[in-house]
Amino acid sequence: MLGEGIIQGLVETARNFFGSYVEKDRLTTVQYPEERLPLPEASRVFPFLLYDGKDPDAGLRCVACQICEKECPPRCIHIEKSKDKKPDFVGKMQVYPAVFDIDVSVCMSCQICVEVCPFDAIRMDKVFELSTDNRFRKLLYTKKELSKPNEYYQKIHPLEAAETDERRAKEAEEAKAKAAAAEAAAKAKAAAAAATPPVGEASGNGAAAPAKLAETKGSPQ
Ligand code: SF4
Ligand code: SF4
Repeated sequence: MLGEGIIQGLVETARNFFGSYVEKDRLTTVQYPEERLPLPEASRVFPFLLYDGKDPDAGLRCVACQICEKECPPRCIHIEKSKDKKPDFVGKMQVYPAVFDIDVSVCMSCQICVEVCPFDAIRMDKVFELSTDNRFRKLLYTKKELSKPNEYYQKIHPLEAAETDERRAKEAEEAKAKAAAAEAAAKAKAAAAAATPPVGEASGNGAAAPAKLAETKGSPQ
């Protein structure tokens, strides 16, 4: 029947409207901002930078590789590399961002920066109440404002954070085992070299023989 869907929609709206006076579940709106609905796991607004531990400078995961800066479609990320290095989570010395800014007034929340980051250093935040009357300064987020601990990430995206933590722990274990194996191999090589006598000493006259021959050849007849 023509218009049947519209009638069904109106009936449902009426049921919710009158039913909401007696049944709370029929309420389709909340009294925002006093009341807030929980945001879904996958909701995303703007990016933030992750750090491990308590110190945002020491634990910042970003190694200033600038991949996100190059891939960001509206080019709203600005990075300047440090002159010195610090160890990353697997102990490898890496540079870090001396400057890391995101202009969130330009960011389109596409999450490409997150997808391309090889270091799990950038993730999407859920904070959306960011309105301000200063479009130029307040919406340009600096490294300090962007840096948030891993515990925060675990809180806002628990499933995604658990998967990332598990993978990083595995990678760190593998790197540790690889480093230990390399160290053991180097020690074994050094021990083998120390145990092998220099050429000539083994036979007792190997090195002396050519010298003696040269002496004989050079002496007058
Ligand atoms: S979410 Fe998209 S637009 Fe925003 S900083 Fe990342 S790559 Fe750029
Ligand atoms: S956030 Fe990731 S992709 Fe961007 S510079 Fe840092 S390490 Fe590289």
